[in-house]
Amino acid sequence: MDKQIKFIFVTGGVLSGVGKGITAASIGAVLKAKGLSVSIQKCDPYLNVDAGLLNPAEHGECFVTKDGAETDLDLGHYERFLDIELTQQNATLAGRLLSNLIADERAGKFGGKTVQLIPHLTGAIQQAIITAAKGSDVHIVEIGGTVGDYEGLSFIEAIREFAHKVGKKRCLYAHVVYVPFIGTSKEFKSKPAQNALNDLRGFGIVPEIVIVRSDKPAPASIARKIALFGGVDEAGVLMLPNVDSVFKIPARIAESSLMTILNTFTCNVAPPQLDAWADLALRQNKTHRESVIVGLVAKYMDNEDTYLSVTEALRAAAWAENVGLTIKWINAETATKRDFANVDALLVPGGFGVRGVDGKIAAATYALENNTPYLGICLGLQTAVIAAARRAGLADAHSTEFDPATTHDVVYIMPGQEGKESTGGTLRLGNYPAVFTARSKVAELYQNDHATERHRHRYEVNQYYLPQIKAGGVVVSGMSPDGSLVEFVEAPACDFFVATQAHPEFRSRPMRPHPLFTGLIRAAIDKK
Ligand code: GLN
Repeated sequence: MDKQIKFIFVTGGVLSGVGKGITAASIGAVLKAKGLSVSIQKCDPYLNVDAGLLNPAEHGECFVTKDGAETDLDLGHYERFLDIELTQQNATLAGRLLSNLIADERAGKFGGKTVQLIPHLTGAIQQAIITAAKGSDVHIVEIGGTVGDYEGLSFIEAIREFAHKVGKKRCLYAHVVYVPFIGTSKEFKSKPAQNALNDLRGFGIVPEIVIVRSDKPAPASIARKIALFGGVDEAGVLMLPNVDSVFKIPARIAESSLMTILNTFTCNVAPPQLDAWADLALRQNKTHRESVIVGLVAKYMDNEDTYLSVTEALRAAAWAENVGLTIKWINAETATKRDFANVDALLVPGGFGVRGVDGKIAAATYALENNTPYLGICLGLQTAVIAAARRAGLADAHSTEFDPATTHDVVYIMPGQEGKESTGGTLRLGNYPAVFTARSKVAELYQNDHATERHRHRYEVNQYYLPQIKAGGVVVSGMSPDGSLVEFVEAPACDFFVATQAHPEFRSRPMRPHPLFTGLIRAAIDKK
């Protein structure tokens, strides 16, 4: 292993969902802004092999990497904060490690030994960390869940041993805790955080850094108490109350006493260059003369995280275009024309399963008929194609995903792909190229004649129906290079009606929004 790599381990206590991912990503952003090369990895202790079959309503969106890994949404935070592209190596799940271990055991690779969580699973975790760290100056590892969870114990033990193996000076531990505010007595309570630090110490880890999350700013006395009873340097405690934008957190870290600790740890005293982040914060806070409303035609209404990369991409586009943005959630199951009429643009995001699909087809139909700017993503392309085919008279046109018995399967499973409908990891995943039709809207938006985007889907447009789809107002504007798969469609008669079989939201960055999202926001402005 490279002798120089430093490792930062980010764990959490008190409760989950306190912002470990954002914290890990922000520390990474600060270190990157110091000129260091930073890599980052999420370890998830649950027994799933990947995030592909997890319910997005519970876990948030499934983030897809360029090599087709179906991962936790924290990888999206990492990509956006660090402006890097991650791979399967950056998402380590207990289920995957265990299934590999068991396969090795069955293959007789342990030579008669007892296969155990320690040292075998812990060893596999450490190996996964070393592999993902390769080539970087600093490697950040976030451990999912909270310290003390049964399923996470092997991970905590693995990272404790890690410092023992590579040397204490090369490892830094950061623990993210939460301090609740008790409304009746009007005080912040540090006891749960102290207990969480005790738990971590019980596993042999004393963190150098404690990030204290709270809803509102807590007094400095809380930080002192946590330092004293947690056995942590006061300089290592950062109070981090909620901020209006997560992209302000790198600056908060950079101006805090943590910087001295991070400088010493990385042997790099260069001040972080965070001008671009400051500029982004300014643009976010601006009050705009103009503002647009984008309707997100959604199936999951109660959890913002389910479409996180999509909403982040919309916001980034609005910041870049200097307009205010309201994202209006339109319930796909109950949507009416009035919902579609009350917005400046419509976005139909990706999705699986029949629930809400009628509303999504209705949104595409409405956009085609009323020249409302429309961006369709994955399922949003399929609904556009179904809408067009129905307009051309194929009344029962559908995807066989939603109506297996339809006589007009305008979206279908390609011959040769049948039979893989319901198991994990069998989708068309990750980067695939597309070639654009000359003078198409997408060629203009991308300023290019081709593009490579990430995918996560199973069904394809049935090219047999292209003439009818065209008669309904929608033409193909991007194909796989061999012409076998439809990748992009658009409606030439509309000012902006673009859809892609891919997921462009995953490549959008806060400071470099994706052209399809910028296009939608511009079209929404023009429409007003
Ligand atoms: N359910 C559709 C398919 O499998 C669309 C998938 C998606 O939107 N990600 O093809």
